[in-house]
Amino acid sequence: MRSARRWATRQARLLEAVFDLVDPILRALHPIWRGIGYKRLERPAAAIEALFKKPLFDCQMCGRCQIGASGMTCPMNCPKSMRNGPCGGVRPDGNCEIEPAMPCVWVEAWQGSQRMRGSERISALQPAADHSLIGTSSWLRHIREGREAAERNA
Ligand code: SF4
Repeated sequence: MRSARRWATRQARLLEAVFDLVDPILRALHPIWRGIGYKRLERPAAAIEALFKKPLFDCQMCGRCQIGASGMTCPMNCPKSMRNGPCGGVRPDGNCEIEPAMPCVWVEAWQGSQRMRGSERISALQPAADHSLIGTSSWLRHIREGREAAERNA
């Protein structure tokens, strides 16, 4: 799993490009998703999301994905679930203080973010993990909330 995670971080630019391609298509399909019902779609969407993201990012299905702002590195793999940068206990070799054999998630997040066009996104303040969302589809939430915000501002 860790080698897949490292691959994803190294390919952050490519994965960002794939996301940029797919995201508008999924958003444009919002009327269909709304017609079916976001609630009804929740379980199958979460299952499909987990199928892709668990092997690739070691995704923990936190329900509000942040990898676009953390160099395609999942912050939920940090033993302290830090979502806004490292804890301050990073070892001199860049590894985690809790798991000495593991590179700090945020060291890798920084490296991945520097490969991305949106490299500045890593500086944006992220909300703490919301445990009530665990196991739900962040893809669906992202589409629904994005479209609802666009409709409110129209
Ligand atoms: S930030 Fe959340 S949804 Fe995104 S890969 Fe990590 S656990 Fe999964």
